[in-house]
Amino acid sequence: AAPVVAIDGPSGSGKSTVSRRLAAELGAQYLDTGAMYRAVTWAVLDAGVDPADADAVAKVAVDADLVIGTDPTSPHISVGTVPVDAPIRGAAVTAAVSAVASVPAVRQLLVARQRDIIASARSAAGIVVEGRDIGTVVAPDADLKVYLTASAAERARRRSTEVAADLAATAADLQRRDTIDSTRAVDPLTQAADAVVLDSTELGIDEVVHRLTTLLEA
Ligand code: C5P
Repeated sequence: AAPVVAIDGPSGSGKSTVSRRLAAELGAQYLDTGAMYRAVTWAVLDAGVDPADADAVAKVAVDADLVIGTDPTSPHISVGTVPVDAPIRGAAVTAAVSAVASVPAVRQLLVARQRDIIASARSAAGIVVEGRDIGTVVAPDADLKVYLTASAAERARRRSTEVAADLAATAADLQRRDTIDSTRAVDPLTQAADAVVLDSTELGIDEVVHRLTTLLEA
């Protein structure tokens, strides 16, 4: 069967760039699970629902029809007929997403959807899946599990360059999300016991991708 690769790690660790590059090199699909939580958050805000109201958030998640494209060269996501690729990267969604992702019913729904996509890809070209709980919860049977990390300073530097935001504000936002993501009651961000840990602080993207392809060939 085609490979399933799980890439987890905190915000700004280089997961998206590495995952897309690896998927393209493997000729595999690419699934950004963070984009799914962000799309539900967009729908929550669009509906005028309070992200802290778990019951109302869960209801929005049930009703939101996520349309997900898994081509690593042009990933996309829509809610119904509305493409949300741009707004899900904005400040409003980023500020609310960790609260939405802490709602157990939301996670249940999205994890089930993620498992369906992975199951189809397994009998096709394979898939690289990035998130926080892929190796631990979504795909514990993945062929390769990676925990990608980098120093807090380097992650903030990368992210602030990416979104052209103030460094101190970005560092504070990453810290805030990492704390919520790693301390929430359901499926917190943790390293899978059998994950390969890669610290990308001083490794270039090429080197990280090269190491992962080598591991897959082994
Ligand atoms: O990866 P990204 O920064 O886009 O993820 C946005 C948020 O979605 C994370 O901060 C986290 O709260 C949530 N998330 C999650 N589980 C995943 C992927 C993302 O809880 N598998």
